[in-house]
Amino acid sequence: MKKVAIIIGHRSGNKGAKSEWLGTNEYDYMKAVALHLKDVADVYERPNTPFVTEAYRIKQLTNKVNKKSYDLVLSLHFNAFKDDNAHGSTALHYVTNKRTKRLGQRFTQLINLWFGVAQRDLIPITSKYQRGGALIMNINAPALLLEPFFGSNPADCVNFYDAEEKYAELIKELICEYLYL
Ligand SMILES: [Zn+2]
Repeated sequence: MKKVAIIIGHRSGNKGAKSEWLGTNEYDYMKAVALHLKDVADVYERPNTPFVTEAYRIKQLTNKVNKKSYDLVLSLHFNAFKDDNAHGSTALHYVTNKRTKRLGQRFTQLINLWFGVAQRDLIPITSKYQRGGALIMNINAPALLLEPFFGSNPADCVNFYDAEEKYAELIKELICEYLYL
């Protein structure tokens, strides 16, 4: 059994934020990244179950992931904001989990080293009603939600254009380093 699970952000029926600079959206970009991670992780995505709430779909997904005991769960998204000056990388971790907090710090550091994207502060999750909170609070394993760049910022996007495979390599490095954190 693989020790790490990767969750593609959003779902094929509702693909998350669009990036006009990348010509794609969170789901399609991160699905391509996840294809390169299948050798090191189990890959999951949110179901398109009709006539239920998004919270219910997330619950269906996390119930499925929780059937196995993973060492680490990573959820793949990118950030976006109406002000296109907002830029940089961040990660969302459970507030009291020091190990995933350290992993999040290492993540933004690696993104800066490999892609030249600025480091933002991490976002501690304290409630399932926070953005990204339902996923992190419902997963039994240590979980980190990764937001490597803003799809709304052109300078961030230049660094991530056609870079799905390189970003997957960075995530592999992060998974290796998790053992030592
Ligand atoms: Zn997202």
